[in-house]
Amino acid sequence: MEYTIHPISLAVIRRNKWCLLYPPSIQYQVDEEVWLPINIWILKGGGKIILVDTGLVAQEAMAVRKPKAMNVVGFVEGLRQTGVELANIDMVLITHLHYDHVMHLPLLKNVPVVVQEDEVRFARERHPVYGYAYNDKVQEIINTTKFTLVNGRTEILPGIELVPTPGHTRGGQAIVINTSAGKAVLSGGCAIREDFYPPAGPPALPVIPPANHYDAYTAYESAILTKSLGDVVLPLHSIEVYSENIKVMPPFPPCLTSTEPFKPFQVPDIPAKPGV
Ligand SMILES: [Zn+2]
Repeated sequence: MEYTIHPISLAVIRRNKWCLLYPPSIQYQVDEEVWLPINIWILKGGGKIILVDTGLVAQEAMAVRKPKAMNVVGFVEGLRQTGVELANIDMVLITHLHYDHVMHLPLLKNVPVVVQEDEVRFARERHPVYGYAYNDKVQEIINTTKFTLVNGRTEILPGIELVPTPGHTRGGQAIVINTSAGKAVLSGGCAIREDFYPPAGPPALPVIPPANHYDAYTAYESAILTKSLGDVVLPLHSIEVYSENIKVMPPFPPCLTSTEPFKPFQVPDIPAKPGV
């Protein structure tokens, strides 16, 4: 079975890139503010519509860590732009339970919501180091969502495999998707392009673990694994999937497969809109 992949950016937040690149791994000082999209992803294939992650609205991001943030499109309207109505979603796959990936789950009560059991346990532990990302609202969502729990590698649908990639969180899962252009891998944790396609060396690193992690070595090994799972990695907070106005994949955006430095992308001023 083959699928097409449709990224939707619900919001953008202004962050320094170092937030997602483990400082000791990199040979230069990253001090560059960028707009990071809060992406969700629609997969279409075999008559099914699958949603990966459910995002948030800008106000929720600002409530957690007060970055600059802007809404791009409401959740329901964003789905509509890919030709999907909320009622037509067959399944939700959650990469991990951080606040920026789960906020619209209350709108999806009647479909399976698939997550690794380890991730639910990790989120409920709410360790002080990561408490902000599994905040009260996330706990409420976890407590009111009837999850379909998986443990380990799972072919959840023909052509879609879930693969545990601990590191960013303990129970994060990458999603490997068959497409007509090869296998695309949605990263199992928050990441940007450079995590998987680092700048040229020296030192030449195959991957850079994210700065947000519970274990840097595990995160590094999972990033290596993620890259090995397919032909291209689509990092969850990649803005490059929009930089050439490519809204539907495949073909994969060349900027994600190239080792060339990518061009800065300016997000236009977008008036804030209600989230739903
Ligand atoms: Zn995250």
